[in-house]
Amino acid sequence: MRRALRLKEYSLLSLLREAWRGNSGWRPAWRKAEPKPAYDVVIVGGGGHGLATAYYLAKEHGITNVAVLEKGWLGGGNVGRNTTIVRSNYLLSENQRFYEWSMKLWEGLSHELNYNVMFSQRGVLNLAHSPAQLDAYARRGNGMRLEGIDAELLSPAQIARLVPGLDVSRNTRFPIVGGLFQPRAGTARHDAVAWGYARAADRRGVDIIEHCEVTGFLIESGRVVGVRTTRGEIRAGKVGVAVAGSTSEVLRRASITDLPIETHVLQAFVSEGLKPWLDTVVTYGAGHFYISQSDKGGLVFGGDIDGYNSYAQRGNLPIVEDVAEIALTMFPGLARVRLLRSWGGIMDMTMDGSPIITTGPLPGLYLNAGWCYGGFKATPASGWCFAWTIAKDEAHALNAPFTLDRFCHGAVIDERGAGPVPWHH
Ligand SMILES: Cc1cc2nc3c(=O)[nH]c(=O)nc-3n(C[C@H](O)[C@H](O)[C@H](O)COP(=O)(O)OP(=O)(O)OC[C@H]3O[C@@H](n4cnc5c(N)ncnc54)[C@H](O)[C@@H]3O)c2cc1C
Repeated sequence: MRRALRLKEYSLLSLLREAWRGNSGWRPAWRKAEPKPAYDVVIVGGGGHGLATAYYLAKEHGITNVAVLEKGWLGGGNVGRNTTIVRSNYLLSENQRFYEWSMKLWEGLSHELNYNVMFSQRGVLNLAHSPAQLDAYARRGNGMRLEGIDAELLSPAQIARLVPGLDVSRNTRFPIVGGLFQPRAGTARHDAVAWGYARAADRRGVDIIEHCEVTGFLIESGRVVGVRTTRGEIRAGKVGVAVAGSTSEVLRRASITDLPIETHVLQAFVSEGLKPWLDTVVTYGAGHFYISQSDKGGLVFGGDIDGYNSYAQRGNLPIVEDVAEIALTMFPGLARVRLLRSWGGIMDMTMDGSPIITTGPLPGLYLNAGWCYGGFKATPASGWCFAWTIAKDEAHALNAPFTLDRFCHGAVIDERGAGPVPWHH
């Protein structure tokens, strides 16, 4: 009962109370925990996925003796660097089921965490530029509907009404012939997701330890029994790794060097603030580009990964040029809008473009990785499934296909049919 009351601490009443008290009564959203010598579960990586895993371990499985170890600060990784698009518009049923479960969790997340993650279901529109592409979208949309996921095929006239400012004329190099729209898709506030999960996990007893880098693994008789960190050794019954773009670098410290993952930089951009102008998310179909407008008014957009491997969280100019070109092709009216900021994050690109949520690759170790461009939308389902896998030592039906050994058996989940080429997914 007390715990339930504590969780309700963000409410209209508490806002009014603190308005009269000069905001002196707020507790920190999470404690600055000191590492203990041992935990039941240690999660490496305090991004969205690591924090969500800790939260669902505590909430769904009653495992609260958990530490999340983060080498930097919460929200400093991809969870705070992404363009926040949330969708479940996939073709393959493994992806449809997993991402739709994530969508359902998103729909209740602000209530669940008692933290406003600003989930805005403004719709995601994929543009088609040829009849063949529209056929492929129709097929994907029909597949989505068969799984109970919302999907609508739109004509150019409907698109023109939905997105004023978009060039729907026949005079462009790749004219728009239609589009696939998912109305329930949208965006969320990236750092609120990290902070919301952190706060809710902390309130259930999870220790969140920032500035604590995992530098090695304690391995006894072939089993992982803990981690070496910049703040000392920590023993653990189970160790879950959820470090996104750093996966290959971190697992190298457990002598695992043959992961089917490459790390690439993905850049994002935000313009100066504009009046409300774009109230949906639009993706280009003849190149890699996506754009939305944030609640502060900035246009948030991004494109392809940089074409070389890197662990540096900054990108290069060819992508900037590419992204700017597509933005102006789609929205010629943006020509005089100024860019405010750009940044990069490092992506763990798998050979089939799909993630890995699995036990192993060593006893006592559990792996959550391979999120490529699209792990933000997966955050709730990823944490939910990873917590299940850690707690029960087996995959849930939703993440059972996302094994590591699918790359040995050929059971790859190649949504785009692009083959083993990470930068094509
Ligand atoms: C520019 C950009 C745009 C994107 N756009 C979208 C989008 O629109 N929609 C979408 O769904 N996805 C998007 N993504 C992808 C998404 O952000 C990621 O897939 C997802 O955030 C990865 O999971 P995470 O949040 O746990 O990662 P992170 O936040 O990166 O968390 C991993 C954490 O591990 C920590 N770590 C690393 N090594 C160690 C160590 N040795 N010890 C301790 N901690 C360690 C890191 O510091 C980091 O905080 C985008 C990514 C980028 C970069």
